[in-house]
Amino acid sequence: MSLSFDPDRISLPIGHFIGDRLLESPGLLPMRRPSDGAFYAECPIASEEVVDEAVQIARKALKTSNWGGVRPRERANVLRRWADLIESEAKTLAKLEAVSSTRPVGQLVAGDIAVTAEQIRFFAEFADKEGSDLVPTDDKHLGMIMTEPFGVVGAITPWNFPVSMAGWKLGPALAAGNAVVLKPSEMTPFSAVFLAQLAVQAGLPAGLVNVVLGDGQTTGTAMTGHPDVAKVSFTGSTGAGAAIMANVAHTGIKPMTLELGGKSPQIVFADADLDQAASAIAGSIIANAGQACVAGSRLIAHAFVAEPLVEAILARMKAVQAGPTWDVATTYSPIISEGQRTRIHSLVQAACAEGAECLTGGEPMEGKGYFYAPTLLAKVDQSSPAVTEEIFGPVLTLQTFTTEEEALALADHPTYGLAAGLFTRDVSRVMRITRAISAGTVWVNRYGRSRDHILPTGGYKRSGIGKDLGREAYHANRRSKSVLIQV
Ligand code: NAD
Repeated sequence: MSLSFDPDRISLPIGHFIGDRLLESPGLLPMRRPSDGAFYAECPIASEEVVDEAVQIARKALKTSNWGGVRPRERANVLRRWADLIESEAKTLAKLEAVSSTRPVGQLVAGDIAVTAEQIRFFAEFADKEGSDLVPTDDKHLGMIMTEPFGVVGAITPWNFPVSMAGWKLGPALAAGNAVVLKPSEMTPFSAVFLAQLAVQAGLPAGLVNVVLGDGQTTGTAMTGHPDVAKVSFTGSTGAGAAIMANVAHTGIKPMTLELGGKSPQIVFADADLDQAASAIAGSIIANAGQACVAGSRLIAHAFVAEPLVEAILARMKAVQAGPTWDVATTYSPIISEGQRTRIHSLVQAACAEGAECLTGGEPMEGKGYFYAPTLLAKVDQSSPAVTEEIFGPVLTLQTFTTEEEALALADHPTYGLAAGLFTRDVSRVMRITRAISAGTVWVNRYGRSRDHILPTGGYKRSGIGKDLGREAYHANRRSKSVLIQV
C-alpha cells in the first residue's frame, strides 16, 4: 500500500492529552501546511491552569503507580511494548507528522519513526542496568551514591523533527522513572499527542505522559516556571533557551538540559575522497531543506580542491525532488512557514548585496507551498550574516583555505559549537583537528548521525548544555544522593 495520502482526509487529535484523555479545547493559533500553504487547523494554547492540571496529574500518577519505585524491568517492558506499537502504527503516525511538518512521509516510516522506536528500546535497556554505586570508604562506613528520578520532567520540543525530538525526551525520562509533561512545537503538535496515546495503550500508567499544546510565551513559560516541574529538558533555538534560563532563574532554580542552535562547519582537505565529501555535504544541507540543528551549513574547502568539490555539490543540489510531504515520491522538504522562508531569503539577499556570489538557488521555488531552492553562496567573509547566523534553511556558504591553521580559524564560530565535519585521509590531522575544534560532535569522512544511539548529542558554547541520547541522557534524568552509613 502506498504511503501517499490526501491531507484533507486526516483526522487530527486536536487537544491536550492529560491523564488518559484528549481534552479538546478551542484552537487559537492558525496552522498552515508547509507543503501547500493551506490553512488546515488551529492549535490550542494551554493556559497556566491547564499546565498546572497536567503537572498535578503527573505527580499523582507517579505516586499511585510508583513508577520510579517498581522493578526497573517493568518499566523497560512497558517502554518496549510502546516501541512495538509505534512501529505497528507507523503509517498513522507518519501521516500526522507529514501533514503539518516538513518531513516527507516516505522518509518517516523507515527513518524518523523506526529510529525513534529503536531509541526508546535503547533507553529501556538502561532501566535495569544502570544503578547506584558503592564507593570506597574505611571499614567503619558504607558509602553510596544513590540515584533516583526527579519526579515531573517538563519537556519542550521544536518543529523540525517532531517525533524524533519527542522520543529523545520521553524515552530517557520515562526509563529513568520520571513522569513527563511535554509541550511540542505549536506548529507540529499532533504526532506527539498520538505518541502519548500509544504509550497509554502500551500499558504506561495514565498520567505519566501528558502533552500540552501551545506556544512558548504562555504554555512554555508556565511549564518552565512551574514549581512542581523538577527538571526542564529543552530543544530549540538559542534565543528560547536563554529565555528559559532567565525564567527558571526568576521562578526557582532547577536543572536544565538545553539542546540549542548551531552553524556547523565542514572542512575538506586536499587529500579527501571528494565524492564521499560532496555526497555528505550536499546531503546534510538538502536533508529537511537544511532545517536541522546540525546542518553542515559552512563549507570550508582547501583551495586546491574547491572547484571540483563545488561542482559535485552543485550537481546534487540541482537534482532535488521537491513535492508535498504527503507524496511518497518527495525527497526535498518545504520550509516550515512563509515567515521562515522570507527570513531565509532576506539573509541570502543581504549576503549577495554585500558581494556574495550565488552559485545556485538564492530564491523561493515556484508553485504552492514554502519551498526554497538549495543555495550555495561563494565569496562570503567570516563576518557575513550568511556565515554567522543560523539560517535554518538550505543555504551553504563556501570559504577556502590553504593551511590547517586557516581552516581551524574559519571553522571556529564565535557562539555556536554543535557539530563539525572533517574530510581527510590523514589520521594525524584527524586527531589534531578533532582535539582543537570546539564542537560537541565531530564527524570524520561522513556527516550526520548514525544509528549508534550510545553516542550523545549536544553542543559547546551557546549550542547548549547537557546531552540528548547516549548514557548521558539517561543519567541526566536521575539525580544522585550521597549516603554515608556508619557501621
Ligand atoms: P524555537 O526555540 O522557536 O521553539 C522550540 C520550542 O520552544 C517550541 O515548542 C516553542 O513553542 C518553545 N518556546 C519558544 N520560546 C519559549 C520560551 N520562552 N519558553 C518556553 N518554551 C519556548 O525553535 P524552533 O524554531 O521550533 O526550532 C528550531 C531551532 O531548534 C533551531 O535553532 C535548531 O538549531 C534548534 N534545534 C536544536 C537541536 C539540538 O539537538 N541541538 C535539535 C533540533 C532543533
